[in-house]
Parts: sequence; structure tokens; C-alpha cells
Amino acid sequence: MANPSLLILPGDGIGPEVMTEVKRIIDWFGAKRDLTFDVSEDLVGGAAYDKHGVPLSDETMAKAQEVDAVLLGAVGGPAYDNLDFSVKPERGLLRLRKEMDLFANLRPAQCFDALADFSSLKKDIVAGLDIMIVRELTSGVYFGEPRGIHTEDNMRVGVNTQRYTEAEIERGARAAFELAMKRDKKLCSMEKANVMESGILWRDVVTEVHADYPEVALSHMYADNGAMQLVRAPKQFDVIYTDNLFGDILSDCAAMLTGSLGMLPSASLGLPMANGRPKAMYEPVHGSAPDITGQGKANPIACILSFAMALRYSFDQGAEADRLEAAIEKVLADGARTADLMGPEGGTPLSTTQMGDVILGALDASL
Ligand code: NAD
Repeated sequence: MANPSLLILPGDGIGPEVMTEVKRIIDWFGAKRDLTFDVSEDLVGGAAYDKHGVPLSDETMAKAQEVDAVLLGAVGGPAYDNLDFSVKPERGLLRLRKEMDLFANLRPAQCFDALADFSSLKKDIVAGLDIMIVRELTSGVYFGEPRGIHTEDNMRVGVNTQRYTEAEIERGARAAFELAMKRDKKLCSMEKANVMESGILWRDVVTEVHADYPEVALSHMYADNGAMQLVRAPKQFDVIYTDNLFGDILSDCAAMLTGSLGMLPSASLGLPMANGRPKAMYEPVHGSAPDITGQGKANPIACILSFAMALRYSFDQGAEADRLEAAIEKVLADGARTADLMGPEGGTPLSTTQMGDVILGALDASL
């Protein structure tokens, strides 16, 4: 059988630095676990603009459509801030999400015990936290028409439209229920059915889909209460399913429960391809971090955890994903820290490469 294929798009700033460590991890799985990927690499963001005059070439887009999964670093940087909107680095990312139709954005918020002190919340509230937010990514108020700013009676009016079809709500709900089945079989759907018709439809459709997943305990919550509960008692949740706007806010809020931006992975999934695998792109939540680019300070863990998500959700390698996550947990428990994870007690931080080294060491030790 052909090896699974992976397109690597390191991007800009610290993107290539953290991706270098992921490539070493990928090589380790090939050498030690007989898990070999057909890896190709290409440009996205500012790097693609420099070469092609666009943040994502048609050739790269076509490649992304063909592979089993895309792994992206980060895009953007001050050199590109003044470019026309149509060729800004972020447009490359948006094109990938749109043309691959990646409608389900998975944002885990997992608190490694060794880092529980980093959270702005009390340690006992976040220690052991492991929740997953599924955000609908391709519809809702960020895309709905009509939109724009116009003038009425000599006054400017800003308009955006929250619009969801039942098909859009349903496909995201199925992704969320499937995830819940692989986890603790608990799903909380969040909307504002008390004040929004789209919220009423959301609640109805999610309830209908539930009939196909009777083993999952489904609850509904207003999104504002959801925000409160996330900071009051986040461990009550397993999987949360919510729309594009609420998901944007709630997933950032949940992410910060866990401490550092350098630790947060994400996955964006679409419909299944002919081989049964979902269209998929994996990327760290952080950006290109121009303030630390080229200094060897970047934490590669968010990008490595994104690859662990690819192992789990694209390649059916849950046990190997567990192995990689356990290696990361082990090095953190042993005190390995990049600069962003240094506490007030100080010490000498590891460089990006050194963090890669200790994770590879822990992987070796896991055999
Ligand atoms: P950022 O995430 O790049 O950085 C925010 C802060 O977090 C910085 O101080 C940075 O040094 C730190 N940080 C981020 N990742 C880190 C890591 N792995 N290790 C250690 N420290 C880390 O956000 P920003 O500064 O607002 O944006 C910088 C550029 O990135 C902008 O051009 C922005 O448009 C772009 N951006 C891209 C993405 C993406 O590619 N998905 C996401 C957000 C921002």
C-alpha cells in the first residue's frame, strides 16, 4: 500500500524553525516505527509571495488537494504588512481553508500537569484539563451576505449577517459527535437560541443529529454561559460544538487556560476523500512571531502536537499520537522549557533544536 502523503508548508518567521523539529520527528517515526510518509514541501504566505507574487500558487493549491494531510507552520511578518489585501500572507491560509472546504476547526485545550502553574486560573481548576472545541469554520457571520458599510439618512451603518443552513450545521455536528465517540462521549453544543433564530436552528439540527449518536450525552448551553463555565469549571466539558463567531472567541478563551501560545495545536477537517480520510490541515495556533524569529527561541511543541493530531485524525495512528504526546508530557515533567515556558524561578531555557532533541530522546526511551 502507498505511504500516506503529507504536504509541509513551513511559511514565514518561526514557521520554518518549528517545522524543522517536526521533520525530525517525522523521520523518527519512519526509522523507528516503520511509519513512513511521502513528504513534499512547498511555500505559503510571504515566502510564496516573494517567489511567485501570490501567497499561495495554483500548483501548491493543487498539491494540497491531492495529499492526505497538509501541515502548516505560520504565515506573515512585518515585511508584508503593507501589501495589498489580496496578496497578504494570510490570504494563502484562507485560500487553503476555503478551497479544501475545511469546515470543522478542532482546537484542543489540554493542560500538561507540569505547566498548570502557567494558567491564569488556579492550578486545581486546570490541572488535567483536556477539552476539544469544534468550531464551524466556513460559514456564519464572517461570511454571510449582505455585509458592508453603507449610509442611511446621513448615518453610516455597518452590516454583517449570521446565516447558517441546516446542512452546514449538520456536517460540523457530525464531526463533533464522531470526535465525542472517540473521547468521553460528552458533547455540549453552544449557541444563543434565546435571542438568535440561527441559534434555534442550530439547537434543532444538533438535536436531530444526536439520534445517530445515542451513546453520546448531549447538552446545550447559551454561549455566554459557556464562556463563564469555561473559566469557572472547564473540566465539566469534553467536546464543545459551536459556530464560527462564538468558536473564535471561546476557543481562544479555552486555549489560554493552558498557558502558552507555543503549546497550542489545531486541526481543520473537511469532507472525507475517496480513500476515506478527511481533507485536513494541521497547524499551530500561533503566528510567525517576528519578535523572536531567527533566535532559536521558538517553542516547537505546538507544531509537533499538530503533527500528533495528524497522526490521530488523518492517519488512524492513535497509539503513535499517544506516544508522541506522552514524550512531550515527559520532557515537560522533567523540566525541559523553552524561553516562553520559563517561570519566575528562571534557569537556562532550551533552544528550539534542544527541545526537539529532548523530545526525540523521550521517543527513543518509549521503545
Ligand atoms: P504571534 O502568535 O506570532 O506572536 C505572539 C507572541 O507569542 C509573540 O511575543 C511571540 O514571540 C510569541 N510566540 C508565538 N509563538 C511562539 C512559539 N512557538 N514559541 C515562543 N513564543 C511564541 O502573533 P502576532 O505577533 O500577533 O503576529 C505575528 C505575525 O503572525 C503577524 O504577521 C500575524 O498576521 C501572523 N499570524 C499568523 C497566524 C498563522 O499563520 N496562523 C496566526 C496569528 C498571527
